[in-house]
Amino acid sequence: MSWHNTPIALMAKALAAKEVSSTELTKYFLGRIEAGKQWNAFLDVNTHLSLEQAAIADSLLASGNAGKLTGIPVAHKDVFVTQGWKSTAASKILEGYLSPFDATVVANLGMPSKDNPNGAGMVCLGKTNMDEFAMGSSNENSAYGPVLNPWNAEYVSGGSSGGSAAAVAAGLAPIATGTDTGGSIRQPAAFCGLTGIKPSYGRVSRYGMIAYASSLDQAGPMGKTAQDCALLLSAMSSHDPRDSTSLADSGEDYSRYLNQCWNTEGVNPAKPLEGLRVGLPKEFFAEGLAEDVAKSVNAAAKALQELGATLVEVSLPKTKLSIPVYYVLAPAEASSNLSRFDGVRYGHRANEYRDLADMYQKSRTEGFGAEVKRRILIGTYVLCHGYYDAYYLQAQKIRRIIAADFQTAFEQCDVILGPVAPDVAWRLGEKSKDPVQMYLEDIYTLSTNLAGLPAMSVPCGFNKNNLPIGMQLIGNYFSEARLLQVAHQYQQASDWHLRQASGVA
Ligand code: GLN
Repeated sequence: MSWHNTPIALMAKALAAKEVSSTELTKYFLGRIEAGKQWNAFLDVNTHLSLEQAAIADSLLASGNAGKLTGIPVAHKDVFVTQGWKSTAASKILEGYLSPFDATVVANLGMPSKDNPNGAGMVCLGKTNMDEFAMGSSNENSAYGPVLNPWNAEYVSGGSSGGSAAAVAAGLAPIATGTDTGGSIRQPAAFCGLTGIKPSYGRVSRYGMIAYASSLDQAGPMGKTAQDCALLLSAMSSHDPRDSTSLADSGEDYSRYLNQCWNTEGVNPAKPLEGLRVGLPKEFFAEGLAEDVAKSVNAAAKALQELGATLVEVSLPKTKLSIPVYYVLAPAEASSNLSRFDGVRYGHRANEYRDLADMYQKSRTEGFGAEVKRRILIGTYVLCHGYYDAYYLQAQKIRRIIAADFQTAFEQCDVILGPVAPDVAWRLGEKSKDPVQMYLEDIYTLSTNLAGLPAMSVPCGFNKNNLPIGMQLIGNYFSEARLLQVAHQYQQASDWHLRQASGVA
């Protein structure tokens, strides 16, 4: 049985029917991780711990105490702290770091226990590679080397959750967690032919998620189908008193609309999306968008129309400004968040130093990579006394306008459709010398984080070199279940998400 092609929705059925055990599934994926090292998708694997969890899952399944996802393996982005597996955020400064506790996401998905009665019972397969501290769009900023794209090893996997994306695309894990501060779930999902969702800000607890830009960071699932993402998101999100931005009512079943028609009244099964208004922002289809990406996203719009949706043109006039706004605000927050890595409390400390200031300086110089340093410098600069008004404050004001523009658009439509990125994956090394070139690739994803809206990436085609193309669906606040419904209905009528990367055995 090729379990790596099996959606977790079916895996759960096979486990419940005792057709396979969690131990067998876990061994299967650990074997694939071992054989698939060339992608550099994982930073830490611990066979013993994974199998220990699988044994617990099997006993829960045997005793009838299993939940929907018990026994299914999952890979975690290395930005979530985990007990037992190293937690480094792909940085040298945290090399070998062992956390004394689990992030809430890890606990929610992990083994139930007295302290964690609601754990979903999923088996942790290990920690996935990423851009250092989630800063990047290509996974080339990892201190542990880039992640290669399973569709073509000469291309980037996307970032910053590139390891999670490659792990699922190469069949090393059935599903994975990611985080998205400015596109880091959606863009690698698009580049690797996966489905991924960044929920509304506050849906998923940030406790134990190594912080990059706290007002933008949000975690979510990356998998093969919208249904799989709905299942994982339902288990990931919960109210968490340890995160002050965690929403009170996050314990939703995000699968609840999947197989329903958009309009519950006057149902026409041939047109399940009748009544849905899809907004196409004209700024998302303007100059800079690759022709084959535009073609595929337009074809997806047509496909939604055939399912009953109506298309309307909308406008998000400040789209271009999302790049300078994000690249002021995110570094500002990062410069503050990363000040904790000073060589005193945890992480790397320089071997030789003269005094405390020298120790700070040397530890940080040695521990951080070039992009992280660049952002700390930008962040401290825009926050400093003389420039605060000109940059940080100004950016905050435009952030507010960007959020308001979305609300104007949502008066005309229920979901917004556009590309995830201006192009498909690029060649390794092609943009890493020029940070601004790299930042421009985030143009369609940043604004949803600035506004705090949910958005997802759904496979919708391939370019002429057989590299995956993703479409982006953006919803209004807390409409995740509806977004997943639209994606699921699209996936019932298309097979882009079922295609396998050619380099994967
Ligand atoms: N590519 C963006 C950046 O470099 C977004 C990263 C993210 O979402 N974590 O910051």
